[in-house]
Amino acid sequence: MIRDYDAVIAGAGFAGAVSARKLAEAGKKVLILEKRNHIGGNAYDYCDENHVLRHEYGPHIFHTNSEKAVAFLSRFTDWFDYEHRVLGWIEGRLVPIPFNLTSIEMLFEKEKADHLKSVLISAYGMGKKVPILELRKNPDPEINELAEYIFEHVFKYYTMKQWGYTAEEIDPAVTARVPVLVSYDDRYFQDSFQKMPKDGYTAIFEKMLDHPNITVRLNTDAADHITVDTENKKVLADGEPYDGIVIYTGLADHLLKYCLGDLSYRSLEFDVQSHDGDYQPATTVNYPTSAEIHPYTRISEYKKMMFNPPAERTTVAVEYPYVYNRTGEKGNVPYYPVFTEESKGRYQAYTDLLKGISNLYLLGRLAEYRYYNMDAIVERALEFTDEILKH
Ligand code: FAD
Ligand code: UDP
Repeated sequence: MIRDYDAVIAGAGFAGAVSARKLAEAGKKVLILEKRNHIGGNAYDYCDENHVLRHEYGPHIFHTNSEKAVAFLSRFTDWFDYEHRVLGWIEGRLVPIPFNLTSIEMLFEKEKADHLKSVLISAYGMGKKVPILELRKNPDPEINELAEYIFEHVFKYYTMKQWGYTAEEIDPAVTARVPVLVSYDDRYFQDSFQKMPKDGYTAIFEKMLDHPNITVRLNTDAADHITVDTENKKVLADGEPYDGIVIYTGLADHLLKYCLGDLSYRSLEFDVQSHDGDYQPATTVNYPTSAEIHPYTRISEYKKMMFNPPAERTTVAVEYPYVYNRTGEKGNVPYYPVFTEESKGRYQAYTDLLKGISNLYLLGRLAEYRYYNMDAIVERALEFTDEILKH
């Protein structure tokens, strides 16, 4: 019975699992309801037939500046050094992404490349990161020409394929995640901590949830058990009033039975392939070309981001963006919130319905309708549980 627990948590991803562990350590009895048949949320990985640690929901690379997140996760894993590098297919060549000074050298003849590099360095300074939409606003004609080249060859088609919208139509924060680098740093991320968990992510979740105060029920949709009486501002657990802590990390529209319509998401499908030996020269190769040339956005080779990879075989995932359709045969996983004015307004309307219900909390990438990286949601869940434990 849910009422036998001090807290019920919907979802066993980072948001749910970190909160569960913290509440359990504070003496609370916690029940996690997880819709899928496994823990780990979108970070779930497992050893496949090629002895490769496959990330079921797309490549997940850990990188952070949060000492708090590292300290907490290090209780459940050892790490190995891993710096993520990505190449992009531009005019038939594979060049570093984020686009940097080496990319310029590889794509332009020497004299022009040297000139472009020095113009960029004097405009922004060595080491600066410039979001493409900002670079495009630079009035200097040479910088502007370079910005248009980078936009055309890195961002325009990739973004269109990924989101179904142009780069100008989506939230500028999205393309700013991959800024142009005025440097020779060819790493995808510049965070101070860049390591991967030695035994993968699922092993972290197994340890984190291994606590006498935590019970996990898989294959259980929390929305079938937890309902909200928005008029009387109450949470019901299996039809009875429930006063314990409720942390919901699933979709807000699903919890409220889609009463205000669907929230907008982008989905993906992965074509997972096995090959002999090695497949490509970097963990991830991006294809920022039009959908007619490459209908996918990127290909990731999982063994290149694992500790002690097997030599013989390899597993790659070819990523195809998809229109999200929760009842569809394909594209039914809500991967990325699509931030349009309409969707942000609808999300706000859902949270307005939940206002005033003092024991119900929305937490995580789905429930908060936000683009959290793993470290950010770990840190957020740690701070959030500290806060609710004060009451
Ligand atoms: P999730 O991991 O989505 O967990 C939510 C859980 O709730 C799921 O297990 C779901 O099944 C469950 N659930 C939902 N509804 C219900 C319900 N009604 N009842 C019961 N259970 C329910 N971050 C990085 O830091 N580095 C990366 O390289 C990176 N790569 C990514 C690549 C892709 C393709 C995507 C989509 C995301 C990536 N992320 C990455 C982000 C990362 O996946 C998230 O930060 C993390 O998964 C957020 O954890 P969460 O618990 O909020 O959500
Ligand atoms: N992006 C792009 N071309 C690239 C890489 C990224 O246009 O080669 C844009 C695209 O809009 C993408 C966003 O930058 O959605 C963020 O990229 P990131 O690699 O962070 O996406 P994620 O790993 O979250 O899918």
